[in-house]
Amino acid sequence: MAGNEYWVNPWTDERIEQAKEAFAAGKSAKETGDEIGKTRNSVISKWHRLGLCGGERRLITGQRPKNRPARPEFLVANILERRKRNQEANGPRKRGPKPIPAEPDSGSRCSLMELTADTCRWPIGDITERDGFSFCGAYTSEPPYCEFHQARAYNRGGSQ
Ligand SMILES: [Zn+2]
Repeated sequence: MAGNEYWVNPWTDERIEQAKEAFAAGKSAKETGDEIGKTRNSVISKWHRLGLCGGERRLITGQRPKNRPARPEFLVANILERRKRNQEANGPRKRGPKPIPAEPDSGSRCSLMELTADTCRWPIGDITERDGFSFCGAYTSEPPYCEFHQARAYNRGGSQ
């Protein structure tokens, strides 16, 4: 009689634990049945009831799949990389236009004869006027013009 086993050798909590451990240890249903005095089929049906079958041994060992992509880290790295790229792209724009230097004092103005290698040669005034014409004459480390007139020269024909 198929039902006799239950009465002769019932599934106690202890045997159920043994069956779980045996499953976790990778033992076969036959081995497990031999250990706890059950038939192979009885062990298999118990495993099914406990939800252990179907090759999902990790369910009871608590292990997670190892080949899962580390999603959060991947996303964080992505965000940081994007932020860095934005900063590089925005860098030159944030610096803005070069500040325009102050116009040199008119006291430095000089005539053509007074120009030297390191004075600004920016013409000031109208060249057709005899006394109104002179050169900037400010000292410059980057001839032929001082910083101010270099900026002016650079912007000539533009905004001015
Ligand atoms: Zn100048």
